[in-house]
Amino acid sequence: MSDDNRDEPLHDESSHEKPSHDEGAAHERGTHTRVKASGKRVVLDGDLKSLRLHAVHADDKIKLGTKAARVEHAPPHAEIEEATQRLLQRLMSLQDAFHADGRHALLLVLQGRDASGKDGVVKSVSGAFNPSGVRVESFGAPTALELKHDYLWRVHQVVPSRGMIGVFNRSHYEDVLVVRVRELAPEDTWRARYKQINAFERMLSDNGVIIRKCMLHVSRDEQRERLLARLDDPRKNWKFREGDLEDRARWDAYTSAYTEALSTCSTKWAPWYVVPSDDKAVRNFLIARMLVETLEELSPVYPPIDPAVREASKDFA
Ligand code: ATP
Repeated sequence: MSDDNRDEPLHDESSHEKPSHDEGAAHERGTHTRVKASGKRVVLDGDLKSLRLHAVHADDKIKLGTKAARVEHAPPHAEIEEATQRLLQRLMSLQDAFHADGRHALLLVLQGRDASGKDGVVKSVSGAFNPSGVRVESFGAPTALELKHDYLWRVHQVVPSRGMIGVFNRSHYEDVLVVRVRELAPEDTWRARYKQINAFERMLSDNGVIIRKCMLHVSRDEQRERLLARLDDPRKNWKFREGDLEDRARWDAYTSAYTEALSTCSTKWAPWYVVPSDDKAVRNFLIARMLVETLEELSPVYPPIDPAVREASKDFA
């Protein structure tokens, strides 16, 4: 991975740091101060303190084996779930301020093998958001029209706008994953995409999009269990596609493709995280925590009232 710009800030926090009005005037209906998200930071104790995701670095040895799909010595489920609920509550108030603030967009990219839990994260983590501020996009095989365009065309159109949170269930990374593994394009075509993707994400980041990318990593055994459940449970039958078995048979090829995508495209401006995902409670906790930390770092604030509105409403009783 190219190391250029690694030390540059992810986002510009300068513009809204300080209230631009005299705080002494804040008594008037409390509208002159910049108000932060309500609620307090979540305090995590004991083993939960160190249970967090770490961004992939270019020189990391990426491990996608069975061990990496689990967390050793995880606290009891009840404890993890209680902490996740507190994180989700915090996420809700941060999102409210983030939406109003409107300086940035947040893009959460979810990738993972079949049955790795992408839908589960959409439901349990992004389900905490106010629906008017979040949009989930799922990327399947490209349509005939999409194939007539460059592979980023369909992606760019649905990148979230400022104030919005976008969740990608699969993404442009399919164009260096399934396309590579199933040989849907020649190697020089997909290989050139790592650089293109880094440049694309860099451009988005320079334009106010905060990007976080999660690879939900499940072990082979866990995937087997989940696929079997899709066969056995009539409520899950519809989720099972023939292609799932074909992709499972290509396990090692996907491992190589993921390894290269993660190490080549984890940048300061759009980091990748490998999320141990055999245990759904741990997975949800880790992603919720990462999102809370990301939004807290941005310190979203509610914008003050428009001076023209204040003036016009001077005599409003
Ligand atoms: P689950 O992970 O729960 O099984 P899913 O994400 O596989 O769900 P589906 O709608 O069943 O959801 O599958 C989407 C399919 O589209 C995947 O097999 C994926 O590889 C494929 N796909 C996505 N993008 C591309 C692309 N650019 N080229 C070819 N295939 C693609």
